[in-house]
Amino acid sequence: MVKKTVFLIAMSLILFGCASVETKLPQLDLRSLVQESVDQERQAFSRYLDMRERLDRVSAQVLAENADLCEKTATDIGIVIHSTKSYPKNLRAAAQMHLGALDEPSVLMVRAESAAEKAGFVAGDVITDKNGDAVSFFDKEIQEEFDKTGLIGRRRAGDAQPSMLKPQGSVICGFPVQLKFSTAINAYANGKSITVTTGMMEFAARDEELALVVGHELAHNTMRHVPKSIRNLLLSGFAVRTTRPFESEADYVGMYYLARAGFELDGVEDFWRRLGVVSPKSIVRAKTHPVTPERLLSIRATAQEIEAKQKSGEPLTPNYLKDANRQDES
Ligand SMILES: [Zn+2]
Repeated sequence: MVKKTVFLIAMSLILFGCASVETKLPQLDLRSLVQESVDQERQAFSRYLDMRERLDRVSAQVLAENADLCEKTATDIGIVIHSTKSYPKNLRAAAQMHLGALDEPSVLMVRAESAAEKAGFVAGDVITDKNGDAVSFFDKEIQEEFDKTGLIGRRRAGDAQPSMLKPQGSVICGFPVQLKFSTAINAYANGKSITVTTGMMEFAARDEELALVVGHELAHNTMRHVPKSIRNLLLSGFAVRTTRPFESEADYVGMYYLARAGFELDGVEDFWRRLGVVSPKSIVRAKTHPVTPERLLSIRATAQEIEAKQKSGEPLTPNYLKDANRQDES
């Protein structure tokens, strides 16, 4: 049936030529069109930079203040690294023009008051190993080398050779946080890193809400939800996807991360009401996640649990089940 329809359409195109519009459209000046494209790209990347700066600042706080609860840690000096590959293929040329992205990893931005700023790193610097080769600071081997020597190379345009610098790094949870160009209101964790979309950055208007999102994704990684989900899926013969309890756990543990990072808990649960309002399907039915009313109420209850601990001076650590098999976590 479909084949027949396609055939008929194809035949009519051949017989009668391509369909066209019936009205006289405005003629556009090519130079103005190019200018407008460049302006829109500049604004898009300027918005991206603002979001990247905010995401780095908020995540740095969450990752640093919870380092003692993270088995996997890394050394942070306060730089965001990028390369043309950090951007979707169709935006790479624009990222080169507007953000100075290179084919090799280089510094996109340096956090204010960070170790990197004090050591003299600026945007555009290329981070190198001791041989002068460009590297990403977050590579495992580079981190290990840096932890041993405290030295990291910097290559700057115009320098005859790279200089070795000694920033005073600090320990953070070892899950880098990326920003992805996408209008979808989404964030995810893959066990190694965390990704937040530009759509989510806009939706999570307050820093507390963004920290809630980062804390939730961090909890997925620290609680090893990805390998646990895969194991459950294999054990059930691909019949059952048991992700909902893990989502609830990420909400619960994530709230502790938020509180430990010093963010205000009051009213942060409204995030889930706003999300339910813009995406009503998630109020009543969700295959992989708890529904939004359930998430709001659980988060409010967790905030009360944490506030009680803060008042009584108890340590801010999540309540574990007595029979929880914690060897799983190792
Ligand atoms: Zn989740």
